[in-house]
Amino acid sequence: MSTKVVDRAPLTFYERTYLPAILGGLKVTAKHFADTVFKGNSVTMQYPEERWVVPEGYRGAPYLVKDQDGATKCVSCQLCEFVCPPKAIRITPPGADGLTADRKNAEKMPKEFEINMLRCIFCGMCQEVCPEEAIFLQKDYSITGENRESMIFNKEKLLKLGGTHAGIQKWKNKLEEAQAQETFPVDAQ
Ligand code: SF4
Ligand code: SF4
Repeated sequence: MSTKVVDRAPLTFYERTYLPAILGGLKVTAKHFADTVFKGNSVTMQYPEERWVVPEGYRGAPYLVKDQDGATKCVSCQLCEFVCPPKAIRITPPGADGLTADRKNAEKMPKEFEINMLRCIFCGMCQEVCPEEAIFLQKDYSITGENRESMIFNKEKLLKLGGTHAGIQKWKNKLEEAQAQETFPVDAQ
């Protein structure tokens, strides 16, 4: 394997004073200053009073959603918990005597569902893997709290923030579909 040695030009005395880089930076600052004062084109905003408007499809914080009938979509299958790279999700299943789902034909829903927003990296794996379309990355990008505990969002908070997501209702006609299978004609071979 051949090796190519690349000559690295030594810095001149002028470059070693850092003046070209400093003047270059000041030139950019002066341009933005002039644009702001004379043209009104400000490149900064008064955060947090002013907020960046994120584009459609932006993937921010993940929240749980309810369906168009107001029912919890999550069925506590724990796939998202399993796949989450930084282990930000913690689900407590309902258990034998726990809550049954608040919608027809769904077997269960989680007793507790927590996301640690300090760990979450907004990767979207939970949304991708969810068979019920129950969790979506939404537009929140600035999540703050006064302590670590307040950054762990529980089921109630996640559902409130997530709101309604009209769409797939896989379980809605599940019972009727199962009953129909009993009379499904099968040709004798
Ligand atoms: S977006 Fe990624 S890191 Fe955040 S909860 Fe979902 S899977 Fe975990
Ligand atoms: S959010 Fe989706 S993947 Fe996660 S436990 Fe609920 S149904 Fe399963």
